[in-house]
Amino acid sequence: MIVSQIFDMLDAGIVVLDRDLNVFKWNRWMSTHSKISAEEIVGKPLFDFYPELNKSWFLRNCKSVFTFGNFAFISQKLHKYCFPFKSYYNSLGYRFDFMQQSCTLGPLRNDSNEIQYIYITIQDVTEIVAYEQKLIEMNIKDGLTGVFNRRFFEPRLEEEFQRHRRYNRSLSLIMLDIDHFKHINDTYGHQAGDYILKSISLLVEKKIRNVDIFARYGGEEFCCLLPETSLDSAKVVAENIRKQISDETFHFKDKEIRLTLSQGVASLAKDIESAEALLKKADDALYAAKNTGRNKVVALQ
Ligand code: GH3
Ligand code: MG
Ligand code: MG
Repeated sequence: MIVSQIFDMLDAGIVVLDRDLNVFKWNRWMSTHSKISAEEIVGKPLFDFYPELNKSWFLRNCKSVFTFGNFAFISQKLHKYCFPFKSYYNSLGYRFDFMQQSCTLGPLRNDSNEIQYIYITIQDVTEIVAYEQKLIEMNIKDGLTGVFNRRFFEPRLEEEFQRHRRYNRSLSLIMLDIDHFKHINDTYGHQAGDYILKSISLLVEKKIRNVDIFARYGGEEFCCLLPETSLDSAKVVAENIRKQISDETFHFKDKEIRLTLSQGVASLAKDIESAEALLKKADDALYAAKNTGRNKVVALQ
C-alpha cells in the first residue's frame, strides 16, 4: 500500500512488464503523460498501445535484461525518447516534438531469484537537453547575428585547409568588411548598426551554399569559406554578394540606409602553406579593395 503510494508520487515514469511484455505496473506519472490509465493498460501487451516500441533496439534491451539480468540505459542522445509523450514549451521558449527521455531497464526477481519482470524508469530530460543545445549553440554562434562565430570558424578553416591540401582540391576564402560602418553607427545609431549586421548576415547566407561556412570574424568583418571552389568561382559569389548589398535599401525605423561591402578573395595555391597564410592573403586582398575605392571585390592570385 505504502509502496504503491510512493510509486505514484514519483516524478518519473515507472513501468513493469512481464516476460511477454504485458504491462504489470503503470504508475501515475505514466498515466498523466500517456493519458492511458493503469486500469486500461495493465494486463495488456505494451505494444498494443505503443506499436512504435516494437523495434529491435527496444526488444534487444528487454531480452538482455531477461536473459542475463543486465541493466540497460536508453540514452536520450541516441533515441530522443522511448514513449512519444507530448512536450510543452520549455523555459527557453520553444518546444521539442516529443518529451526527451532517459530510460533505464532492469530485472525484477521473484523469491526464487528468477527474473520475473522487467522495470523501465522514464525521466523527463527535456529541460536539460534544451539547455545543453543552447549552450552548444552559444559556443559556436555569434549572439547578435546568429551566424558562426570566430571560435567555431578557425578550427574549421584549419580542417578544411588540411583536407583540401591533402587531396589537392580547390578551397577559397572570402573576407567581407562593411564600408564606413562607423559612419552608419554615428549617423543612425548603434541599434541601426546592429540591425544592419543582422540583415547582411541573412542576405549573405542566402547567397551561399549549405557547405560554405559563413562566420562573423570580428565587429563588422565576416569570413566565408568555400570548399571545392576555385578562385574564379569564389569571385563570382563575392561579386553577387557585393551587388545584392549595394542594390539593397535597408529600413530601420523610419530611416532608409544604403551601404556597401568590400571583399577580399584568396584560394589555396602552392605558396599558401598554412590556414593562416590563406587568411592573410584574403585579408591583403580586402585591404587592397579598401584602398582602391571600396564597394569592390579584389582577388589575389
Ligand atoms: P572601413 O570602410 O575602412 O571598413 O571603415 P569602417 O568605419 O567600417 O571601419 P572601422 O574599423 O573604423 O569601424 C568599425 C566600426 O564597427 C566601429 C565599431 O563601433 C563598429 N562595430 C563593431 N561591432 C559592432 C556591433 O556589434 N554593433 C554595432 N552597431 N557596431 C559595431
Ligand atoms: Mg568596415
Ligand atoms: Mg573592419
